[in-house]
Amino acid sequence: MDPEEVELARQRLVQMREELLDEAERAYAESQTLGKDGVPDIGDMSSNSYNQEVLMNLSNAQRRAAADIDAALERIDGGVYGLCARCEEEIPARRMEVRPFSRYCVECNQKLKSTANNQGFIDG
Ligand SMILES: [Zn+2]
Repeated sequence: MDPEEVELARQRLVQMREELLDEAERAYAESQTLGKDGVPDIGDMSSNSYNQEVLMNLSNAQRRAAADIDAALERIDGGVYGLCARCEEEIPARRMEVRPFSRYCVECNQKLKSTANNQGFIDG
């Protein structure tokens, strides 16, 4: 991937992460309001970092998505973004566009999918 594409992907990933965090914050605020009297104080939370307590309000799928997004951002920092983590071939741009947090090429993903004990490390 050229640096421009990687930068665009990074922006998309950061945005996806913020959306997930927003959802978590809303769910957290709701749970606080339901559970206690008073207004929940979530104003101090950094929008760039996850608060574990807030994250607990996400579904398993959302938490996994957050982890996938973080992993993709790490791969960008490490300069290996867009490369399959298994065969190290470049993942087709179309796939990265649809799933910017893809870790494997289609072929490897399918192989991993057929291996039952690799749950959690596949792209879905
Ligand atoms: Zn591969």
